[in-house]
Amino acid sequence: MKYVDVVLPLPLEDRFTYSVPSSFESVVVPGMRVTVDFRRKKTMALVAAVHETKPPFECKDILDVPDIVPVVTPQQFRLWQWIADYYMAPFGEVYNVALPGGLKAPGVYRPKTETCLALAPEYRDGRALRVAMEILKRAKAQAKAFAVFLELSHNDTLITDGAAAGTSVEITRDELMNSAHCTAAVVKSLVDRKLLVTYEREVGRLNCDTQPCLENIKRLNEAQQDAYNRILMSFMKKNVVLLHGVTSSGKTEIYIHLIKQAMEQHRQVLYLLPEIALTVQIRERLQRVFGNRLGIYHSKYSDAERVEIWKKQLSDNPYDVILGARSAVFLPFTRLGLVIVDEEHETSFKQQDPAPRYHARSVAIMLAQACGAKTLLGTATPSAETYHNATTGKYGLVTLNRRYKDIQLPEIRVVDIRDMQRRKMMNGPFSPVLVKSVREVLEGGGQAILFQNRRGFAPMMECKVCGWVPRCTNCDVSLTYHKNMNQLTCHYCGYTYKLPEACPCCGNTDLKGRGYGTEKIEDKVMEVFPEARVARMDLDTTRTRTAYERIISDFSAGRTNLLIGTQMISKGLDFGGVGVVGILNADSMLNYPDFRAYEHAFTMMSQVAGRAGRKGRRGLVILQTKSPELPVISHVVHNNTSAFYAGLFEERSLFCYPPFYNVIYIFLNHRDENRVSTAAHELGNRLRSLLGNRVLGPDRPAVAKVKTMNIRKIVLKLEKTIDMGKVRRCLRSEIGRLESDTRYNSLKVYCDVDPL
Ligand code: ADP
Ligand code: ZN
Ligand code: ZN
Repeated sequence: MKYVDVVLPLPLEDRFTYSVPSSFESVVVPGMRVTVDFRRKKTMALVAAVHETKPPFECKDILDVPDIVPVVTPQQFRLWQWIADYYMAPFGEVYNVALPGGLKAPGVYRPKTETCLALAPEYRDGRALRVAMEILKRAKAQAKAFAVFLELSHNDTLITDGAAAGTSVEITRDELMNSAHCTAAVVKSLVDRKLLVTYEREVGRLNCDTQPCLENIKRLNEAQQDAYNRILMSFMKKNVVLLHGVTSSGKTEIYIHLIKQAMEQHRQVLYLLPEIALTVQIRERLQRVFGNRLGIYHSKYSDAERVEIWKKQLSDNPYDVILGARSAVFLPFTRLGLVIVDEEHETSFKQQDPAPRYHARSVAIMLAQACGAKTLLGTATPSAETYHNATTGKYGLVTLNRRYKDIQLPEIRVVDIRDMQRRKMMNGPFSPVLVKSVREVLEGGGQAILFQNRRGFAPMMECKVCGWVPRCTNCDVSLTYHKNMNQLTCHYCGYTYKLPEACPCCGNTDLKGRGYGTEKIEDKVMEVFPEARVARMDLDTTRTRTAYERIISDFSAGRTNLLIGTQMISKGLDFGGVGVVGILNADSMLNYPDFRAYEHAFTMMSQVAGRAGRKGRRGLVILQTKSPELPVISHVVHNNTSAFYAGLFEERSLFCYPPFYNVIYIFLNHRDENRVSTAAHELGNRLRSLLGNRVLGPDRPAVAKVKTMNIRKIVLKLEKTIDMGKVRRCLRSEIGRLESDTRYNSLKVYCDVDPL
């Protein structure tokens, strides 16, 4: 008797054993899916092992085996196991996000088929055909359709030379109807007369497959060619290389050459981008060069499409290049040679919710290692971890300091908002120099970008008389006013409230909005620059993918000339005509209560600034802040990454933060505030007794209640030399103990490893 140990797509650590009925015994191997009955539900499980050890309990039979070959390779299995261990997530959770939905739910995926036509077997020699034409003598439409069919499928040659039938061309019912201008009824009659037979053919949904290569690869200039050579040299010694190239230095063109080189060696390339949003521009650039050798994979694709890409990757003709967002690290690869992580600093490479909370950059490096492939991390603003690894020799480092065509980096002018406010010179959120520069650029036919990292109208409403602030009832945050919909919205749970007519505390009817969101900036722009053609890009205006693409293409084509946006606009977009970029309020990023605030602010400001002056003239950036004296501001101005990180690393090492220490956050959630607080103290104390002063807290996080769940947070700061295996075991057992404690009924605890 054979047994299988299977993984279920559920947050469960355990594997479950099922017995294999004799009919399936010769079929099942690890990596195949099997349907099983789990808690009275038919579930698609994944076979981890096949064995003959009878378990000490009664087990159920597997119900079905839908696969002929495994859909998960042993190598994927090992990588997923690494993810589960490292990020402290149950394997079932990894399996659940890794495999496309269409492969997990029984019967969800149906291949798309077309009806095809073939000559009935008895007419496949010339004489029978003559008989057939005789039959159709009095059915004109059918005779015509039949003749067209013979012609299209090259069966007409049979009439004269009686060649073998196998050489005919496959032809679909739709093709015949189109070519013969006939109805479905006519075709049906031919089938009813048993002249033709029908069969179903599986067709792909992937329209990528029909993309032709349109253009030759661009020649690299000298600086690019040099960087390209240094990358290849570096790969001889290091598995991971950082390409640190200023914005618009032509990194993407270098990637294209590296992809081509890998393809010439018959190796596959995985090209990771942080967000779907970015794939539009890059996809077009890659598709023009690699045509149908390029596959695209991300979570906005339909399930069926993702299933087909997955299966194509397992076939003997997989894509040479996969362009994808973070979930593409889960795809099967058979001959991977290179992984490119573009915009490696981007925080969206880290999955937040649901678990597993993995960082796709780290997973990509592990994937590459497992395949004997190299990893290239590319960015103009490296993350702290990557910069540290590259400057200490763990990774190779290749820098590119010149923009393509030697366009200068933008001039960055710092404006002290406090000073302007004292002298009453601010026009709302705009300083005089900003107004002047934007006006000049627009009048000269150029474009401008205004960056404000807050959406909505007013980030906070307030009663001017008593100071009352409307707050969310589900979350511990104040509400944002959205003027378009005239309502208050919670940006944590999405709940909306009507704006009260009067203050519920004092009855004052004059509620005022404090601060500026993108919506209010837009209002103000219309007032100050009435001639501008304005577009706004934030979460509220880009709910659909087409809305996003329209905003980008309108701005690229110059149909709009003033773009207002949140950090969305900073993400690697390549616009030609941006003369001026305004960073309206740098302080909102700098004052964020998080050890990464400065790193993120530096990155974001440098990236936003990089949108200025990409083609043609040198751009101008107006950086408005209330704290112009901060070193981070001058590092942005001088684009001085090394000075910025020198200062930051001193602090990080002093306060035991990454890249010098590993950080793990433990979050505890419960509806009842007292219970979560007691549980958190208990866990904190127990962990402290095991791990000492590496354990900090529990504390109330900045937002201590979300969606009616009260949250407590424990922080672990672990030196690099510590035995992480031991730490994880200890966390698992302590958390397990707490979660099964009846006093804390329905307490949820989870870890965030390497949090961002
Ligand atoms: P980065 O990725 O570093 O921001 P890009 O690769 O997007 O830079 O290059 C910026 C612009 O310069 C793009 O419009 C690109 O088409 C153009 N460009 C870069 N390198 C070349 C080249 N070798 N030949 C022609 N155009 C190039
Ligand atoms: Zn009031
Ligand atoms: Zn809320």
